[in-house]
Amino acid sequence: MESRLNPQKACDNTSGNRFRVFIGGFFHETHTFLDGSTPWNAFRTVEGKALTDLKGDASPLGGVLDFAEKYAWNVAPSIFASALPSAILSDDAVEKFWNHFEYHWKTNTSEPVDAIYLVLHGAGVSVSFPDVEGELLRRIRNLKGASNLPIFGVYDLHANFSQAMACCTDALVGYRENPHFDAKESGVRAASLLNRSLNSGIRPRQYLIQPPIIWPPTGTASASNPMKRLLQTARQLEAKHPEFWAVNINGGFAFADSADTGVSFSLVTDGQESIAREALEELSHIAMEYCEEGNVLEVPFEKVLFDLAHSDKSNVKRGPVILAEPSDNVGGGAPGDGTGLLRLFLQHRIDNSAVCLWDPDSVARLFQHTPGSIVALELGGRGSNFDKGPVKIDCELIRLSNGDFELEDKQSHLASVCGNRFDMGQCALIRHAGVTILLTSNRTPPMDLGQWRHLGVNPEELFFIGVKAAVAHRRAYDPIASANYLIETPGPCQSKISEFPYRHIRRPIYPLDPLEAIKLGSLSYNHTTNSNP
Ligand SMILES: [Zn+2]
Repeated sequence: MESRLNPQKACDNTSGNRFRVFIGGFFHETHTFLDGSTPWNAFRTVEGKALTDLKGDASPLGGVLDFAEKYAWNVAPSIFASALPSAILSDDAVEKFWNHFEYHWKTNTSEPVDAIYLVLHGAGVSVSFPDVEGELLRRIRNLKGASNLPIFGVYDLHANFSQAMACCTDALVGYRENPHFDAKESGVRAASLLNRSLNSGIRPRQYLIQPPIIWPPTGTASASNPMKRLLQTARQLEAKHPEFWAVNINGGFAFADSADTGVSFSLVTDGQESIAREALEELSHIAMEYCEEGNVLEVPFEKVLFDLAHSDKSNVKRGPVILAEPSDNVGGGAPGDGTGLLRLFLQHRIDNSAVCLWDPDSVARLFQHTPGSIVALELGGRGSNFDKGPVKIDCELIRLSNGDFELEDKQSHLASVCGNRFDMGQCALIRHAGVTILLTSNRTPPMDLGQWRHLGVNPEELFFIGVKAAVAHRRAYDPIASANYLIETPGPCQSKISEFPYRHIRRPIYPLDPLEAIKLGSLSYNHTTNSNP
């Protein structure tokens, strides 16, 4: 394949002429069914020298920076902006990011740049741009001096991968695990592919297929089918075809309503197009075969109580029962202040249980009291119209904290987003009738047990732990759990996705349309290639 790189430059690297790589990124998983919008000031940004200081960090950015040091790349740092999943992005947030990115491009390109490397999510939606990453990548490709550069990057398994993402880049590499404990490793994998391209002069192409399927986040765990089977097949395809640089299984993010929303597969190759297409079709057929299995729904709490009451006690594993509440999945954009599970604990008088709520107002009130005080509170229930509203109860204040904790698991899903530490903001631990409630000032995805232990709670000793997540909590909680359930409560991330008012998604699509309406033989797959020669 023809190379657009100067072959002399590619060879020069071995003699000490270092590749100069421009690094940056934008990371937001957008839930378009939430009220309001996400402004620029919701983003945590690192720029210039501060970005290179993230070397050694547990995130994908830390991964590429470690790789860059090892392979003596000369890093030209730009900006990395990330925010927790939340409502639709304001256009201003996208434009502000772009202004910073463009500024760094202009100030960094007085010396030649050999490549661009990006850390992305892939499910960003703004008011005017249904495919934020596609829009940004189009602009990046059109930057002065960037039209012929290799653009490589890493992205989240929940990306709604678009044609523009495939067309405007050489190679994007997705995470392979959900929970995303391989985020950093994936960043390194993408960096090593870029290194391969720089050293060989080979520019791969990308192909995309979007089968007519959406799965709720609960159906995208990599340890269960359909993802398990698809990921296995992807690894087999990579082993069988050395020309495949990467085969990506994208679970998609159901709550970002756009034409690209849903399951997709993308493939990076320097081989024949027909072989790439055949592989993508094979994956699509597997996805169709397993599509109902991916539509994982929640169960009523009463069913859990019934099951536990009738289980064989001699066979019961020790440890807490984990009750995940996907409807209030913080990692999916929900506020994390839903009262559904707390109400069930109170209603059924569940002793020795715990749940965490985002409630800065109550924390501020509690900071005016000392531990041991009984305080009348109105807890949670303000962040979503789906909720019944605040729970009014008297609680004993157990402990206060500044909420900054070091992650116990530096490879966790949370580490992929925030690095080594997480700041829950000021926190209060309170108790009411056997229910322990951790109140945080910042929304906190329940993906690391350090969240509890930092406040003196040993999660292993609890009977029920309520967690506001769909899948991402499992790496932290599975090792201590005696059982796991997905509990039905009201909230914006509940798994019955056919109940959401989709307007932009491609149709017909499962499960919004009956399976019979989607004939396997007449699927029109959406193939895309990038513009590389
Ligand atoms: Zn994800």
